Amino acid sequence: MLIDRFGRRITNLRIAVTMKCNLRCFYCHREGQANGEESELSVSEIAEIARAFYDLGIKKVKITGGEPLLRKDICDIISSMPPFQEISITTNGTLLAEKAEELRESGLDRVNVSLDSLRPETYRRITGGDVEKVVDGIKTACEIGLTPVKVNMVVMKGINDDQVEEMVEFVSSMNRDGIRAILQLIEVLKLPGLERYHLDISGIERKIASKAEAVLLRGMHFRRQYSFETASGNAVVEFVKPVDNSEFCAHCNRIRVTSDGRVKPCLLREDNTVNVRGLKGEELLEAIKKAVELREPYFRD
Ligand code: SAM
Repeated sequence: MLIDRFGRRITNLRIAVTMKCNLRCFYCHREGQANGEESELSVSEIAEIARAFYDLGIKKVKITGGEPLLRKDICDIISSMPPFQEISITTNGTLLAEKAEELRESGLDRVNVSLDSLRPETYRRITGGDVEKVVDGIKTACEIGLTPVKVNMVVMKGINDDQVEEMVEFVSSMNRDGIRAILQLIEVLKLPGLERYHLDISGIERKIASKAEAVLLRGMHFRRQYSFETASGNAVVEFVKPVDNSEFCAHCNRIRVTSDGRVKPCLLREDNTVNVRGLKGEELLEAIKKAVELREPYFRD
């Protein structure tokens, strides 16, 4: 089991498999990675690194990017994973409807899909893309059992903060018989240039909390998940509030690998990554342990 100097158990791995993307979300943090477009890890390199993390006690893996579904060998990447408790992907959903079945057959358990607005014009303003394809992707994933599908909405002041209710209804409509979809409301990180869009989503959380019939406090980042009935079905809404939040960091059990093969102890830092590309066996395990030792909460009291 990997435990850092702050007593945090590392159970979740997030691997970026590409930096390429077919959308242009203006707020994108690029998984905290400044470069790496030309030097993606191969399937066997990814498999080797994932196996080492598995051997060190990691339970769940999430594959991210860039847009991971742009990799032609994405199904090979999934089927090369060791037997983690859960293999998931985070995708913009534009290619999901056509690839969902094959992804599931390769061993994918579930998906997170980014969807910041259901309105075509707002969606285009944020991402440059077409919302219909993403909605299709979410519906397909729900139908074929890549569930629970987590719909990620980054809430931004003056852009889509007036659209939370319609997103709650949309996700609820997937949940008429059983929970297939969960809405994750994400506070936008205050990256340079994004300050004016930042909104403390605690106000939205209080409103949702007042309707909740059940509340779940998750181990991961101490996130709260609220369940309640709506006109369209059953809503499950989770809040992701990373900004200036020491509680979030104190309960962070995630570690990352960049698309060019560096272990990244924290999303918000680029100065403490540890290269693991080309390492094998004991050397690889030691490099991972070194990266874990470098972990420290970004926000603390
Ligand atoms: N292309 C994939 C996707 O769209 O899900 C994977 C990469 S994307 C960087 C992963 C997640 O990060 C998305 O859910 C996105 O909404 C979130 N994200 C990106 N930039 C962010 C920011 N500035 N603040 C908060 N979340 C952000």
